[in-house]
Amino acid sequence: MKTFLLLLISSLTLWANAHIFVYHRFGDNRYPSTNTSIKDLKNQFDFFNKNGYKVITLNKLINALKNKETIPEKWVVLTIDDNFKSFYKNGLKVFKEYGYPFSMFVYVEATQKGYKDYLSWKELKEISRYGSLEFHSYGHGHMSKMSTSDLKKDFEIGLKVFREKLGIKPKYFSYPYGEYTKRVKEIAKSYGFDAILNQNMGAIASFSDIYDLDRSALVGKSNLDYFLKIKALDAKWISPKSYPEDGVLKFLQVKTDQNSKHGYYYISGFGSSRVELNNGEIKLNLNKKLKKFRTRVIISIGNKMSTKLLMKDEYGTK
Ligand SMILES: [Zn+2]
Repeated sequence: MKTFLLLLISSLTLWANAHIFVYHRFGDNRYPSTNTSIKDLKNQFDFFNKNGYKVITLNKLINALKNKETIPEKWVVLTIDDNFKSFYKNGLKVFKEYGYPFSMFVYVEATQKGYKDYLSWKELKEISRYGSLEFHSYGHGHMSKMSTSDLKKDFEIGLKVFREKLGIKPKYFSYPYGEYTKRVKEIAKSYGFDAILNQNMGAIASFSDIYDLDRSALVGKSNLDYFLKIKALDAKWISPKSYPEDGVLKFLQVKTDQNSKHGYYYISGFGSSRVELNNGEIKLNLNKKLKKFRTRVIISIGNKMSTKLLMKDEYGTK
C-alpha cells in the first residue's frame, strides 16, 4: 500500500504541469482578436480562485525550473504582451483586486516615442509596483525577417533605453508576434535573459526548455478550461527542425516517452490527422507544400502536446 501511494504521488508530481497565459488588451473592444473583456477576465480569475489554481510570479516558476524542482499542479503565471494603456485603464484594478502578480513585456519604442495607446514611462513605473516589467524588443519587428545586425541593434538600443528609463535590467524576453527561428532564438539568448517566452499553446513541465516556454493566449473567445487541461509532451523532434528550404515538409519524426498506440498531428493550413505510434515514435512521410510562412506542427497524445514553430528565416544562419 505504501509503495502504491508513493508511486501514485511520484507519478502525480511527474504529471504536474504549470500554465503560462498571455494577455494583450483589456476591455478594449476595438480589437476583438487581442482583447480580453473585463467580464471574461474576472470570470477567469474567479475560476482560478474556486478551483485551487495558484497564480504565481514568472520568477517563481523560472526558479523552480532552473533548480529542477518539481512543478506543482495548478501553478498559473500571467503575462501581458505590449504595454497598452488599456491594461492601466481597465485591467490593473482587477489584478489588484485579486492580488494576482503579472509580468508585462514592454515594446520599448512605443513608450519612448509616446505612441497613442501605449503607456508612458511614468505609468510603467507605477505598474511595476504590482508586477514585473520585461523585454518585448525595441521596434516590435518581425524578427525572422531582420538581419542579424539589425536584430542586434534592436536588442542593444531597446535594452539600453529600458534600463535608462526604468532603472532595471529585464530578466525575461518574449518575441514580438510570437515569431522566432533558431537564429533569432540564439541572438536573443546571447543577451543573457533568464528565460524566453513564445506564443505556442501548451503547458510547462520540469523538462521544458526555459528558452522556449509555451504560452496560451487568453484573448477573444479562448477556452480557459481546455488550456488548463493541456499537459506538456516530452518530445524529441528529429524532423522537422526548421522551416524546409523548398517549403515542402517531407518527413515527420518525433520520439516521445508515451506508450499510446496513436496520437494526432496538426499542421497549420492542413488541420489535424491521426497518426500511429511505434514504441512512442512517430515516423511519417508527409510531402506537404506548406501554405503559411508561419507554420505550427503540433503533436498531441491524449491531452499532452508538443509544438514546433516553423518560420522561414530570411537570413538563414548568417
Ligand atoms: Zn507584441
